[in-house]
Amino acid sequence: MEKKNAIVSKTPLAGNYGPEFLEIKSGNGSWLEDITGKRYLDFTAGIAVNALGYGREDLARAAYEQMRRVIHTSNLYTTEPVLKLAERMVASGDFAAVHFSNSGSEANETALKYARLYSLRKKGPGHHRILTFTNAFHGRSLGALSCTPNEKYQKPFEPLIPGVEVAPYNDVVALKEKLDESFAAVIVEVIQGEGGLEIMEASFAGELQDAARKNDVILIVDEVQTGLSRTGRFYASQWVGLKPDILTLAKPLAAGLPLSATLIPEKVNSLIHVGEHGSTFGGGPVTTAVALKVWEILSNEHFISETAQKGDYFKTLLEELSTRYDFLGKVKGKGLLRGLEYRGEEKGDELADRIKGLIGDAREKGLLILRSGKNILRFAPPLTITKEELEKGIDILNEVFKEMKEI
Ligand code: PLP
Repeated sequence: MEKKNAIVSKTPLAGNYGPEFLEIKSGNGSWLEDITGKRYLDFTAGIAVNALGYGREDLARAAYEQMRRVIHTSNLYTTEPVLKLAERMVASGDFAAVHFSNSGSEANETALKYARLYSLRKKGPGHHRILTFTNAFHGRSLGALSCTPNEKYQKPFEPLIPGVEVAPYNDVVALKEKLDESFAAVIVEVIQGEGGLEIMEASFAGELQDAARKNDVILIVDEVQTGLSRTGRFYASQWVGLKPDILTLAKPLAAGLPLSATLIPEKVNSLIHVGEHGSTFGGGPVTTAVALKVWEILSNEHFISETAQKGDYFKTLLEELSTRYDFLGKVKGKGLLRGLEYRGEEKGDELADRIKGLIGDAREKGLLILRSGKNILRFAPPLTITKEELEKGIDILNEVFKEMKEI
């Protein structure tokens, strides 16, 4: 391994994540500190995971107290936090049950499997197709990856699972042409978190709902990134009045501990037989004990409206910033899941390098940011961030852009 200040390279970590890493020591509120003591304002929140920020005593205590009682039981047995959390989750919509797993991919994998199981038992063999949309991101496991139409992610792992079709996002006409009763499921994001922060149009949501219902196709809404108040509503589907049959959740659910959930309706749950699906670790006592605390905070109406207000304020700050530079374009997303378009999508690799450099420059100046799609800078700070911290982040971005303009 090699180390230069807090940047570590030639690590024994698999080659997925690039040649170098910033080595973090600790975090507090919206800030992270590296091993040299340098502090960073975090507009990434562990890729939309750390909704409550860092250094939370209440969450640490919930984990510790549960760890002293029992850490793991497997799903052969259950525990109080698992049952309590499941009860709350099911009551958050028209759901009858929840299957817990460990990651967003697994939650979607479960949703796809349950939809196929439902379709087979309800409609018979041959109704197994799955519809996904352009620029979607549903995860890296083979089923979820098959619904993630991105050549870079898919190509090395072909053949993928059969029966997956892709339709253009937000295209009502294409949707009507494509979706029929041979499909088991349609899987969709309300805001495409990884794929450019495109937002679902209300007219498309309405059509999707009708077409799925008419063809008895399970509507899977992937809220792995958007769920639990990040967009200024508890579920982003509420923005467009979309009612999922199956809803998947993950990122903020246990504040950074691995926990995900697939919420299912009675019509699906009633067809599942014992032993047909499962997970050793999914929904353990510790992750669910922490998630109970997280759920209580994130589902609070006052917390949600404050998040929405901060999201609106952040939007105006970004819009104002965008007017200052020719190379900046639209502000995208909702709530505290925001994007800022960097113009010049047609430039391909050159633009990708520029954005990579820009993210590095921001880091140098003490701000951590993300990318979405090819040319969108993505910001997903902790939902507990203050307005002053949002302003501080904008100031740092301004410094970065100022220097870019002078190149
Ligand atoms: N679905 C969405 C919308 C996501 O944003 C992600 C991750 O970014 C996933 C699924 C996959 O989640 P995980 O990386 O936990 O498997």
